[in-house]
Amino acid sequence: RIAYVNGRYLPHRHASVHVEDRGYQFADGVYEVCEVLNGHLVDERRHLDRLERSLRELFIPTPMSRIALANVLAEVVRRNGVRDGLVYLQITRGVARRDHAFPPAGTKPAVVVTARRSDRKGQEALAAKGVAVITVPENRWPRVDIKSTSLLPNVLAKQQAKEAGAREAWFVDGAGFVTEGASTNAWIVTGGKTIVTRPAESGILRGITRTVVFEVAAALGYTVEERPFTVAEALAADEAFITAATTVVMPVVRIDGHAVGDGKPGPVATTLRLKFHDFSEIF
Ligand code: PLP
Repeated sequence: RIAYVNGRYLPHRHASVHVEDRGYQFADGVYEVCEVLNGHLVDERRHLDRLERSLRELFIPTPMSRIALANVLAEVVRRNGVRDGLVYLQITRGVARRDHAFPPAGTKPAVVVTARRSDRKGQEALAAKGVAVITVPENRWPRVDIKSTSLLPNVLAKQQAKEAGAREAWFVDGAGFVTEGASTNAWIVTGGKTIVTRPAESGILRGITRTVVFEVAAALGYTVEERPFTVAEALAADEAFITAATTVVMPVVRIDGHAVGDGKPGPVATTLRLKFHDFSEIF
C-alpha cells in the first residue's frame, strides 16, 4: 500500500508524520472520507466543498489548489489499485513547536492521503441483515458541523457500541432528540413513505450521503421531513437507517436492544441503498 504524505508517495508502513504535527498534538485538523467506485471518487466535488468549508471555519490555510488535491486523491487510488473502497484525506495545521495558539504565519498545513479496498460482500451481507445501534448522551462540542479530527466522544461512543454488540451509537441531545451517529447521520421512516432526519443547522455534520439521499428520496416519491426525532419515535417508526460515505445507506433494525418495525431491513432503506449511486456524481 502507498500513502501520500506532504508531497511524497511512500510505502504505507513507512508513512508517518512529525511528533510536533498539530494533528498529533491537538487534533488540530480536518478530514474527509470519500467512497471509491470502479476506481472513481463518489461525490468528490461535494467532499472538497465541505473540506474547504472545514478549513475556513478553523482558519487553516488551503495547502494546495483544488485541482492539485484532486490529482493526489486520484493518484493514491490508482497507486493502490483500489476499485471499490475508500479514500481518506487529512489536513492539519502543520508542524510547529507545541503552543496552543496558531503557529507562525507561513507554517505549511500537513496533508495525508490513504486509500483502501472495502469488503463489498461483507457490506452487502450487513445491509441485508441490518445493524444495531445504541444511544448515548450527546457530549460533543457544538461545532460538529466541522469535519474535525477531534473525535474523542465519537471514539468512546463507538467503543461502547461495539462492546454492546452494536455497529453505531446515536447521540441524544438534552431535549431527548437524536442528533446523529458517531460516524453517520441518523434517519427514520414513518407512515410508509416519509423519511425524517435532523436539520443540518444544529447538532450534526451535513453528510454528503445525506444530501444525496434527499435527491434519491425526491426522485422516488418519498416525502422528506427535516426535523429532530426522539428515540421513542425511532422505536415506533416503520424503519430506521444510517448514512455515511463508508456505509452508504445502512438499515438499523435494533435500538438499545429493541426491534425497529419488524426487526428486519425495511423497503425504503433498502431501495435508497439500491438506487443511491444512480444519483451520485461519479466521474
Ligand atoms: N456524521 C458524522 C459525525 C460523521 O463522522 C460522518 C461521516 O464520517 C457523517 C455524519 C456522514 O457524512 P458523509 O455522508 O459525508 O460520509
